[in-house]
Amino acid sequence: MPDARFLVVFDADSTLLRNEVIELIADEAGRGAEVAAATEAAMRGEVDFATSLRSRVAALRGVALSAFDRVRARVEPTPGAAELVAAIHDRGGRAAVVSGGFHEVLDVVAPALRIDQWRANRLAVQSGVLSGLVEGEIVDAAGKAAALREWAAASGVPLDRTIAVGDGANDLQMMAVAGLGVAFNAKPAVRRQADLVVGPVDLRELIPLLP
Ligand SMILES: [Mg+2]
Repeated sequence: MPDARFLVVFDADSTLLRNEVIELIADEAGRGAEVAAATEAAMRGEVDFATSLRSRVAALRGVALSAFDRVRARVEPTPGAAELVAAIHDRGGRAAVVSGGFHEVLDVVAPALRIDQWRANRLAVQSGVLSGLVEGEIVDAAGKAAALREWAAASGVPLDRTIAVGDGANDLQMMAVAGLGVAFNAKPAVRRQADLVVGPVDLRELIPLLP
């Protein structure tokens, strides 16, 4: 990987995207409201992320892979996302996403937004339907911080030239590791611990912060 001048690592759901994708998948199982409430509690930091994710993914059991086209069509990038990523690239930076959500959606959405690299959880599938399990290690708060460190090292970027942007409690560790931790569209607990709080839900607000 070529060196970059700086690195910006985004959370996906409710940060780079308007949606919580797990809620869109849960809608396909008729359990959208229940999963939305559980996601909200996890993002406020009230419950352990990995435990919460496992129980929410269990609610997705039986959703057919064929439903994912419908899910992806409902995913909405946050206003200004494309402009911010273009500005990052213009200044010689790299844009990455680490998500407690899922590769099944991010593998389509991230390249469309010209994101350079991304990491997320994977949903286990059996006979064309979700089995209700997460495959492999869960990307939790520690996993997000580890991804930021790993990508910064691989890009030759010192940590003080990294920016982490997120809205949920599981973003706090990567925000603490980054040179600048930005709370965007964020829960109160996240706003309190961030270096900087961006209120308007428009990612162009971050362009003046780029090094
Ligand atoms: Mg989020």
